[in-house]
Amino acid sequence: MFPLKLDLHVHTTHSGDSLSSVVETIEWGKKRGLDGIAITDHNSIEASKDIPQVINDFIIILGEEIDTQEGHLVVLGIDEKIPSNLPFSETLQLARESSGLAIIPHPFDYLRGGVGPEIARAFIPDAIEVANSHSLLFGVTKSLGTQLARELNVASVGGSDSHLPETIGDSYTVVSCRKRSQDSILESIKERRTQVFGRPTPLRHRLKTLSLALKVF
Ligand SMILES: [Zn+2]
Ligand SMILES: [Zn+2]
Repeated sequence: MFPLKLDLHVHTTHSGDSLSSVVETIEWGKKRGLDGIAITDHNSIEASKDIPQVINDFIIILGEEIDTQEGHLVVLGIDEKIPSNLPFSETLQLARESSGLAIIPHPFDYLRGGVGPEIARAFIPDAIEVANSHSLLFGVTKSLGTQLARELNVASVGGSDSHLPETIGDSYTVVSCRKRSQDSILESIKERRTQVFGRPTPLRHRLKTLSLALKVF
């Protein structure tokens, strides 16, 4: 077993509200000392087209942050887009059919698409994102998320929810893996071999992210 340091929630320009190109995302991920990242654009897997052929040892997991009728769901390890705006239960079903790993991101951030604990209890995901660097109350939501993951007996994970290159890695997950591969990472998360680290993204970066989102909506 060896530990891999991964930011499991990163947006790129394909999200429409992010300034990070795929290439910059990879550069900054390396700079921040990560072993890899999961690209989780809003309702898009278009970033897959921009992933360079040669990225040496850096791991990229393709995912999607999907808008469901109840809020956000992150699915990792897919190669086809999962449609948005369906009921949460149907989206989760599609994720399972495509062998994706389902993570409920920022469950307690009700203003940012968090689905809340009742949805998590009703449709148990593979993991709960307990640390999200853009959470409005980072410490409170981290503690509530950790309790929820324990209650459901699923993995705890962390991610930056970065929309700017310089905020990549603000939160991350250390996954104990057998191999340095996407399959091994996803399997290890399902087996709950994760540790969560991170900090809230500094206010100046959050304000910049917010201004990008306001331009889109
Ligand atoms: Zn979200
Ligand atoms: Zn996000």
